[in-house]
Amino acid sequence: MIFSKKKITLDYTVEKCSNCGMQIKRKFSDGDVLFAEYSKCDSCGEMCLIEKIFGETLEQ
Ligand SMILES: [Zn+2]
Repeated sequence: MIFSKKKITLDYTVEKCSNCGMQIKRKFSDGDVLFAEYSKCDSCGEMCLIEKIFGETLEQ
C-alpha cells in the first residue's frame, strides 16, 4: 500500500490601504485581481488595494 502526502494549497490575498498603510490578510476569493480596489479601510475609510496574492502549500 502506498501512502502519499497530501498537499493543500491555500491562497491568500493581502489588501493594503494606500492612505494609512493598514494591511489585511485574508483568504483568496474568486475574482480577486491584483491592484484592484477591493474594500473600504476599517480605520480611515479610504479604498484598499489588493497588493499581493500568494499561495502557501501545506503538507499533511
Ligand atoms: Zn486606511
